[in-house]
Amino acid sequence: MSVVTTEVKAESNILSLMEQMEHENILFFNDKETGLKGIIAVHDTTLGPALGGCRIWNYQNETDAVWDVLRLSRGMTFKSSISGINLGGGKAVIISNNKEQRTEKFWRKFGESVEALGGKYITAEDVGTSTKEIAYIMQKTSHVAGKPLEAGGLGDPSPFTAYGVFLGLKASAKEAFGSDNLTGKKVAVQGIGHVGKYLVGHLTKAGAKVTITDINQENLRAVANEYGAAVVGIDEIYDQDVDIYAPCALGATVNTDTIKRLKCAVIAGAANNQLADEQLHGQMLLDRGIIYAPDFLINAGGVINCYREVKNLTEQETQKYIDDIYNKTLQIFARAKEEKVPTQEAAIRIAKERILRAKN
Ligand code: NAD
Repeated sequence: MSVVTTEVKAESNILSLMEQMEHENILFFNDKETGLKGIIAVHDTTLGPALGGCRIWNYQNETDAVWDVLRLSRGMTFKSSISGINLGGGKAVIISNNKEQRTEKFWRKFGESVEALGGKYITAEDVGTSTKEIAYIMQKTSHVAGKPLEAGGLGDPSPFTAYGVFLGLKASAKEAFGSDNLTGKKVAVQGIGHVGKYLVGHLTKAGAKVTITDINQENLRAVANEYGAAVVGIDEIYDQDVDIYAPCALGATVNTDTIKRLKCAVIAGAANNQLADEQLHGQMLLDRGIIYAPDFLINAGGVINCYREVKNLTEQETQKYIDDIYNKTLQIFARAKEEKVPTQEAAIRIAKERILRAKN
């Protein structure tokens, strides 16, 4: 059963939350001098060390930060498991509303917290962190991925993520329309940041008619000009008469309000945690006949790239995991139909089974 529901979120006792969501460890850190404070959550290390990025965000309160790190780290466990790679799930969040405080020393302090876990957790980039911060963190710990090119890393993972999302989206089109040919298909892309802009490129090349939105007007104009995409307002994206909705900005955009408004047959995008409530909204999509491609599978290209770095794999060895996203998406749809459950639930079952097999 899915456990990411509004009832679980209301739970305020951290050990109970860990028990329900099955986390192994949580490390809280605080440094008065630099103002660094945050949390590292290690969800499951059965398949390997817990890898997941470090997110820095202006959380409204500590409960939101705890919920975010628990949910994101659990998602990383399922993402690596279903992708067939030998990594566990973890994540770090830093609570910060002050960009000035984010000095080299601040990031080195964070590196010490990563190091304190002795390799059980490997950090990488997420919202608010880039290879620049990774270079600072690396001064205090070797447990990092997504390293800068000049430090022997593979740089920005977004093109790999975008390609995996494109494959998952094509598989979803095959399920919904009987063919994965995207010529003439109307796609709404929400967020044309690092991943979204590459996805728009793939879609345009495949002949799709793309509509985009973003809060960053400058980037929006640039992507619209480059690909001839139509532009709509932030909130209008949910009301578009499109075949496919691709959320590539924030999580929880698939919720009770938006599901009523969406006219698409498919939801397939890069954003993490797209369903606000896995159980409720997974079921609502099933009832409405909207095909949902589980985010944690189709956006796995980035973590697969980190896996390549951690294990020193070749590009060829890694590419097969990304190419597999297409067939794995179809397998999830088949399993969901067979067991009459939402696709998110089917994907979690597949991910958990691999972990259970490894445990036994
Ligand atoms: P990004 O920050 O580069 O892009 C996000 C874009 O969304 C930005 O352009 C931002 O302006 C826009 N945005 C923010 N709020 C918006 C709103 N309300 N409406 C429309 N646009 C809005 O991030 P990214 O690296 O492209 O990642 C996009 C999503 O994919 C995130 O949820 C991220 O967690 C997830 N993801 C990214 C990767 C990766 O490799 N970068 C891997 C897995 C998952």
